[in-house]
Amino acid sequence: MLQGIGFFIRSLDDDELPAPQELVGPDARLDMVADYLDSGVVFARYRGFSWCRFACGESRMGSCDLTDGVWLWPEDLSHYLRIHSVRLPEVFMTHALAGRPHAGVAEDAPIDLHVWTEWARAQRCDMLRESLRAAKLEDARLAAEARQARVDANTVRYGEGGRSCIQAGCGRNALMGMVLCAHHLPEMSLDDDFHLHSRRLLSEALRGISQPMDG
Ligand SMILES: [Zn+2]
Ligand SMILES: [Zn+2]
Repeated sequence: MLQGIGFFIRSLDDDELPAPQELVGPDARLDMVADYLDSGVVFARYRGFSWCRFACGESRMGSCDLTDGVWLWPEDLSHYLRIHSVRLPEVFMTHALAGRPHAGVAEDAPIDLHVWTEWARAQRCDMLRESLRAAKLEDARLAAEARQARVDANTVRYGEGGRSCIQAGCGRNALMGMVLCAHHLPEMSLDDDFHLHSRRLLSEALRGISQPMDG
């Protein structure tokens, strides 16, 4: 069993993991612990790079998780300690500063986030959580708007036919030459634009400057 640590909020739907902004505080040991974090061995690799939740401009964050055989953390965790003064649970700080040699670990070792999430939960920032909730509402509003815009565009593009939509419970007419109405056409993958909006709203909420988007 590995104890996961330093995993941060990934999306506006993520209510389990902390925002690093909630964990900032002075601690003279952070640089030393950051060095320890960098000495971990690779446990798992991912496609693509993570992103700094402080939007500090660092573009090449980690693309793997590291371990010392007891704890498991994302490769970029040291960035948060060095650059943003993000603190970690005392039990880990003590462990890291003791500098015990790394132990081997099974590839399929289970990961427990309990220590991490419990410790972080005790330091939740209500204002930040409020800002995240607002961003999530805005995100849902934008998604609904985008969906409606797509329905309108498809209705204009194809026109309504004479047949009823075959979706159970739908009373609308199908689009011309189709068996489904504009509401029930298979969801095309949400626009990349849309995902960027989502990410941007999250970043802004974390920075405490969430503002409604124009247009
Ligand atoms: Zn950063
Ligand atoms: Zn329909």
